[in-house]
Amino acid sequence: MKKSVLITGGAGFLGSHLCNLLIKKGYFVICVDSLITGSIGNIQRLLKGKDFRFIKHDVTKYIKVKGEIHYVLHFASPASPMDYLKYPIKTLKVGSLGTHNALGLAKAKKAVFLLASTSEVYGDPLINPQPEDYWGNVNCVGPRGVYDESKRFAEAITLAYYRTHKIDTKIARIFNTYGPFMRKEDGRAIPNFINQALMDKPITVYGAGGQTRSFCFISDMIGGIYKLLRSRVNSPVNIGNPDEISVLKVAHIIKKLTESKSKIVFEELPVNDPQVRRPDITFAKSKLKWQPKVPLKKGLLKTIQWFKNTSVI
Ligand code: NAD
Ligand code: UDP
Repeated sequence: MKKSVLITGGAGFLGSHLCNLLIKKGYFVICVDSLITGSIGNIQRLLKGKDFRFIKHDVTKYIKVKGEIHYVLHFASPASPMDYLKYPIKTLKVGSLGTHNALGLAKAKKAVFLLASTSEVYGDPLINPQPEDYWGNVNCVGPRGVYDESKRFAEAITLAYYRTHKIDTKIARIFNTYGPFMRKEDGRAIPNFINQALMDKPITVYGAGGQTRSFCFISDMIGGIYKLLRSRVNSPVNIGNPDEISVLKVAHIIKKLTESKSKIVFEELPVNDPQVRRPDITFAKSKLKWQPKVPLKKGLLKTIQWFKNTSVI
C-alpha cells in the first residue's frame, strides 16, 4: 500500500512541485486548495494520474478526509507580498485557523506534520545571516505583519502540538524561492523582472535596490523540504540558498540574460521591506545533509525559458 500525503496549498507554486515530487517518490497525494492564489493549471498534468486527488476546500474550515493519511504538509497561504497585502485577513486566518485544522487532521490520523514557514519570521533582521535561534525583528502592526505574525503563530502552535500531543512535527523556514510555475503576475521580484524584461517594459526596482535577498531555485528547495520531511528533526530549519545578492544586481542580471531593452526604474520601497536576508544553513547541512546546488544564473535561465514558453505576450 502506498503512503498517503495530504498537501494544503498543493495547487500553488511550491505545493504543485511538491505534489509532483511525492508522486514520483511513490506516494498517493491529496491536494487541498481553495485556489485563492494557486491554479488548476499548476496541477493539470497531475490530475489524470491515479495517485493524485484534488479537493477544492478552504482549510480555515474543518478539513474532513476519509482514510489513512501518513503525512500532512501545510503549504496553504498567500505568499507574495502583493497577495498578502490584498488578503490580509485571509492570510492571518490560514496561518492560524488553517494551521490549527491541519494540525488537528495530523493528530487524528497520527500523521507526520510539516509546516511551510518563512524567513519572514525574522522580519527586517538585525543580524545577517540569520540562524534558526535568532528571534527576529518584526513590526506586528505594519502591513507585512499579517504574514509574518500568521507564520510566527503557525510555528508556535505547531510546536505546542509537538510538545502537548507528541505529534512528529517539522518546520521549514523557507527563504525566497523562484522557478517555473510561479504566477507571472504574482508581484514578486523575479517574475516581475523577467516578465518586464521579456516585454521590454521598465524593470521596477523598489527603493535604491541595495536591499538583499538570497534566491533558491525550486528543485533545490523541494529537495530540502523532502529531506526535512523524512528526517528526525523537529525544530525549525532554514531552507534556502545562502548566496546573497542585491535586488538591483538581480535586475541587471535578468536584463542581460533576456537581452532586454528595458530601462531599470526606481519606485518607492514598500513599508518594512527587509534590508537584508540570508539563511545560515549550517543546521540543514549537518542534520539533513542538504545544501542547494543550482547557481542563480542557471536557475534564472530555466525560469526565463519557462516564462517564454508559457507567457501570452
Ligand atoms: P502560492 O500562492 O503559489 O501557493 C499558496 C497556495 O495556497 C495557493 O495554491 C492558494 O490557493 C492556497 N491557499 C491559500 N489560502 C488557502 C486556504 N485558506 N485554503 C486552501 N488553500 C489555500 O505560494 P507559494 O510561493 O507556493 O508558497 C507556498 C507556501 O510556502 C506558503 O505557505 C508560503 O508562506 C511558503 N513560503 C514560500 C516562499 C517562496 O519564496 N515561494 C518563501 C517562504 C515561504
Ligand atoms: N522588489 C522590487 N521590484 C519588484 C518586486 C520586488 O524591487 O517589482 C523588491 C522588494 O521590495 C524586495 C525584493 O525585491 O526588496 C524581494 O521582493 P519579493 O516580493 O520577491 O519577496 P520578499 O522577499 O519581499 O517577500
